[in-house]
Amino acid sequence: DKIKVGLLFGGRSGEHEVSINSARSILQAFNYPENLDKYAVIPFYIDKNGCWHSAATARQILTSGQPLAIEREIKVNIWQFPTEVSEIEVWFPILHGPNGEDGTLQGLLTLMRVAFVGSGVLGSCLGMDKIAMKTAFAAAGLPQVKYKAITRSQVWSNACVFPQLCDQIAEEIGYPCFIKPANLGSSVGISKARNLQELEAALDSAASYDRRIIVEAGVTAREIECAVLGNDNPQASLVGEITFDSDFYDYETKYTDGRSSMVIPANIPDKIANQVREMAVEAFKAVDAAGLSRVDFFYVEKTGEVLINEINTLPGFTNFSMYPQLWKATSLEFDKLVDKLVQLALERQEK
Ligand code: ATP
Ligand code: MG
Ligand code: MG
Ligand code: MG
Repeated sequence: DKIKVGLLFGGRSGEHEVSINSARSILQAFNYPENLDKYAVIPFYIDKNGCWHSAATARQILTSGQPLAIEREIKVNIWQFPTEVSEIEVWFPILHGPNGEDGTLQGLLTLMRVAFVGSGVLGSCLGMDKIAMKTAFAAAGLPQVKYKAITRSQVWSNACVFPQLCDQIAEEIGYPCFIKPANLGSSVGISKARNLQELEAALDSAASYDRRIIVEAGVTAREIECAVLGNDNPQASLVGEITFDSDFYDYETKYTDGRSSMVIPANIPDKIANQVREMAVEAFKAVDAAGLSRVDFFYVEKTGEVLINEINTLPGFTNFSMYPQLWKATSLEFDKLVDKLVQLALERQEK
């Protein structure tokens, strides 16, 4: 009998469209003969309100590539799951960002007691919250930029506290610095500040996205990424480099065709590439990730230093995304990768 896989996509995050594209590529991979023999895929779509839709609607979304239009926002979700949900033997969630990659959905799937691809609750939330992530990396001895954790209430405090906060940041972190909402992805809400005026605006902007904010020392570095695959004995792929012409790898650069490119394998010394791969596996273990993760690094060419930037526990997964491309270059084709991820999910399922 074929294993019933629930392909879960969409979701209540700014990366909804990316998720649709990732799911389209994954569905294609399940249609390869060897996967077709093993798995029966049922897609489920989570709309921008967080409502779940049956296979019929999900298939339409995957065919059209267009999200379902939402008439009005729903404040409280009382779920009505499509009946097919009860048939699923293993879930393949491919939702990026908050409400998908951050442990909330993983909590729901854990309560359902059905196997799922990717990290569990702990790995997902440690991988999403950049402050908690950096604490875990520091505990594992992984080198990273200097940073400071801040809350929205500090930023939106009275006219007396806010200038003090900015002074502290200037003193402890300096310029340029990067200001980020702690729990987002795709560079949403991230700004670079070169002076006090930019810092003030950046903090205000980040505070509009998240209660938790992180300020990091800016580095001038090449951006290297590594894919990790596995459970308790994870393996690292070849490493790749992202190149682009803008000031930093911001949202527009990420999602505008031709603004950035991937170089695989990265043209860096073997010694550095190996160091990146080791650090990627360490980072994966440090947050208790499972299944898959893409780990992002800064390579400071001048000093030869490698700093970890972040881990993404549900990275972009279209045919053209870095994660599957890195595995392809490491001799694991997209369809085999998808099969492997499902097998890893089943292996992890509680007995
Ligand atoms: P992703 O889409 O990879 O999940 P993200 O939203 O989690 O991205 P980061 O990877 O933390 O965001 O940062 C986005 C980009 O901003 C980086 O790729 C890099 O170009 C730039 N950047 C972030 N932090 C720093 C830093 N400390 N120094 C220099 N550049 C930085
Ligand atoms: Mg990220
Ligand atoms: Mg991300
Ligand atoms: Mg990143």
